[in-house]
Amino acid sequence: MIRHDTSDEMDYFAVQSPESGSAIQVAVRLRPFLKAEHLEDSVIEMSGNTVRVVNAENENYNRLEFGFDSCLNSSDRDLFDFAAQDHVYQEMGRPLLERALEGYNVCLFAYGQTGSGKSFTMTGTDTNAGVIPRFVRELFKRFLTLVDIVFTVEVSYCEIYNEKIYDLLSDDKVKDKKTLRIREHPQSGPYVEHLSQHLAENVTEVMDLLQKGTKRRATASTAMNDTSSRSHSIFTIVLSQLRSHTEMGLDVSFSCGSRINLIDLAGSERVGIAGTSGDRLKEGSLINKSLLNLGKVIKKLADLGSHRHKVAHIPYRDSQLTYLLKDSLGGNSRTSMIATISPAKCHLEETLSTLRYAATARSIVNYVHINED
Ligand code: ADP
Ligand code: MG
Repeated sequence: MIRHDTSDEMDYFAVQSPESGSAIQVAVRLRPFLKAEHLEDSVIEMSGNTVRVVNAENENYNRLEFGFDSCLNSSDRDLFDFAAQDHVYQEMGRPLLERALEGYNVCLFAYGQTGSGKSFTMTGTDTNAGVIPRFVRELFKRFLTLVDIVFTVEVSYCEIYNEKIYDLLSDDKVKDKKTLRIREHPQSGPYVEHLSQHLAENVTEVMDLLQKGTKRRATASTAMNDTSSRSHSIFTIVLSQLRSHTEMGLDVSFSCGSRINLIDLAGSERVGIAGTSGDRLKEGSLINKSLLNLGKVIKKLADLGSHRHKVAHIPYRDSQLTYLLKDSLGGNSRTSMIATISPAKCHLEETLSTLRYAATARSIVNYVHINED
């Protein structure tokens, strides 16, 4: 019997996901050298699904190798990389779209240090769209091919900064500055209370909302000393499907809904994963509690391994981000992660921290919460 457990303490029962043994599909995306960067040999080499460290000054690093579900490479300088953006969508966005249309909740997050390409990957630029716009375009295209189904799309967009939740789409000037709280619904799980929901009829309307919220996040970041590298943004699409047809003279209808969370995380430079990089925190920087706790949750889930019927305490409620994403992490939702990395030697320490984080996330086995009764 599958249920949403409202406590953090639960009985687990491990099942292999149909696609692979891991609950979180993990891709690594290597960005090219940027114009402003000094062009040098990349310290990362990718072949097949393996990432290898090369050209590092520290010889020990050159032996390091990591395996992922997908390795996405675009390491030529000045590459006007339309194909790369589409490839990332095909590999990581499209499978989620299929699952969402089947009625599952899905979640995609970008993790990596500031400047490694998280926003480029999720949102992209005006001329080179990222995963979110491509996902939205495909979604509406698919609606046209599916007859007998009525779809509705509702969009919300929020930001977690310093453990406070802000609505990026609220039209209310007063509410705009207010912080919101997470509540938990017995069936559908955690949600942000009073977060504005926006019905969208077509691609343009969704894109306008995405742009509006993203702009608001950017404006706030200039005013508050670059919050965007320290805030998590969560773009949510709630897809409802109402299917009706006539069967033997009777009207039959059935409805289902899925929640699609598309997340651009804060820069990972201040935190690693608990236990693997020694809870290292850079001096003088604020602790990003949500990001730190996400690492802890991932580590705990990974440590459970494939043990069946193991009772464990997963600290979902210790931070806003993990509480909100509780059902996407270790629940029965399809979750994917894109870890973005830089090819530069000077970023190697951070790159290694990201690769370790991503490898830990990938080692989480799919779990279904079972009823103890
Ligand atoms: P982050 O969101 O992780 O801080 P950005 O997405 O803003 O990083 O990327 C930093 C810069 O690098 C931006 O100018 C972006 O356009 C560029 N960039 C990132 N990834 C790529 C890529 N794969 N190909 C081309 N340019 C990229
Ligand atoms: Mg960014």
